[in-house]
Amino acid sequence: MLAPGFIDVHTHDDTQVIKHPSCEAKISQGVTTVIVGNCGISAACALLKGDPPDPMNLLGKRSDFDYPSFAEYILAVQEAAPAVNVAALVGHTTLRNNVMDNLYRPATQTEIQLMRRALRYALEQGALGLSSGLAYASAHEATTDEVKALAEELATFDAVYTTHLRSEFEPILTAMEEAFATARHADVPLVISHLKCAGAGNWGRTKEVLSLMDSAAKGQDIGCDCYPYAASSSTLDLKQVTDEFDIFITWSDAMPEQGGRMLDDIAKSLNVSLLEAAKRLQPAGAVYHCMDEKDVQNVMRYPLTMIGSDGLPNDPHPHPRLWGAFPRVLGHYCREQNLFPIEQAVHKMTGLSAQRFALKDRGQIREGAFADLVLFDPETISDRATFSSPKQAASGIKRVWVNGALAWQEGNQTGQRSGRFIKRKQ
Ligand SMILES: [Zn+2]
Repeated sequence: MLAPGFIDVHTHDDTQVIKHPSCEAKISQGVTTVIVGNCGISAACALLKGDPPDPMNLLGKRSDFDYPSFAEYILAVQEAAPAVNVAALVGHTTLRNNVMDNLYRPATQTEIQLMRRALRYALEQGALGLSSGLAYASAHEATTDEVKALAEELATFDAVYTTHLRSEFEPILTAMEEAFATARHADVPLVISHLKCAGAGNWGRTKEVLSLMDSAAKGQDIGCDCYPYAASSSTLDLKQVTDEFDIFITWSDAMPEQGGRMLDDIAKSLNVSLLEAAKRLQPAGAVYHCMDEKDVQNVMRYPLTMIGSDGLPNDPHPHPRLWGAFPRVLGHYCREQNLFPIEQAVHKMTGLSAQRFALKDRGQIREGAFADLVLFDPETISDRATFSSPKQAASGIKRVWVNGALAWQEGNQTGQRSGRFIKRKQ
């Protein structure tokens, strides 16, 4: 089957596309375009005064943040010549960190004005929109009004607001209402990032969540993305430490030797509680097996849902979504579980995504469109990355072209890196 190249709408590849422009984890899956700058954190427009705060540390070390303006970020991507196309959002947390001495409070009016100016400047230079990560402590104290004020800047550019909700746990409906109100206030399109019902007390609630999506969609332009796994991954958050589901530690700066072990086992060997073990590991990364499979399937099947990997390329033991998300949708969920017809699966990773993010002449096969293409075998396509062995290229991806140049052929990169930076409505 020949499909438009897959668009990974939710990535944290900001520095990866520059430092490791071969982007093998992406191109090997048939991904030809990545959207970076999600969850409130972008390398573009970052002015660090010290080490990157959580969760900006997911994007790299202090020395990896070298793009104080959006234009400088574009230039760095173009000079690196990545294998995939790159488009970028500007992160709310990144803007906060630029202008605030302390992230654990609401921004002042002056700080909001400074953030608005920086955002406007980035939008003029081609940013797709604004992302927020309100669940993280570094943005959690931001008021709804703070975000609304920033969202106002998006309107003149017809740019998008994407959000990692203030909560994906029990208060998820309130968090969704906040996101809808923010986007409605500015009259801009909204994308809810990695929509999920997290936490054992929240399992089974996608019915409510999706019916709320349905009713909001009647009055405003909304969408969402998800990755095809029942486990999430991010930095290790003390608020998410629980014995209700497994937590796997992917890395720890304080105790590097504990990376690759279950938090439960670490706690036992240290002879302390889960929470105390988690405190001692900080800063650290984790995979949380926090979702119910049925909920994951409900969200994936939902018509407004796009596929985004949320892969973490700097993680030494990454969640398998980094290498496997797209083939897993087509192999495991489409062919094996019959979750949806293959045309619908492909639409969720191509046409729908290009339309949502206004990526002109992408996500479709037609005359005049860019030749971002993937040739795959629907009978054999499958993800090979697992939680225990996550850095595995998928099988069944025969060829991948980016802007007309062959980038991947029968399990190997061709060496051609023809990705472009995609500015908003270029
Ligand atoms: Zn997120």
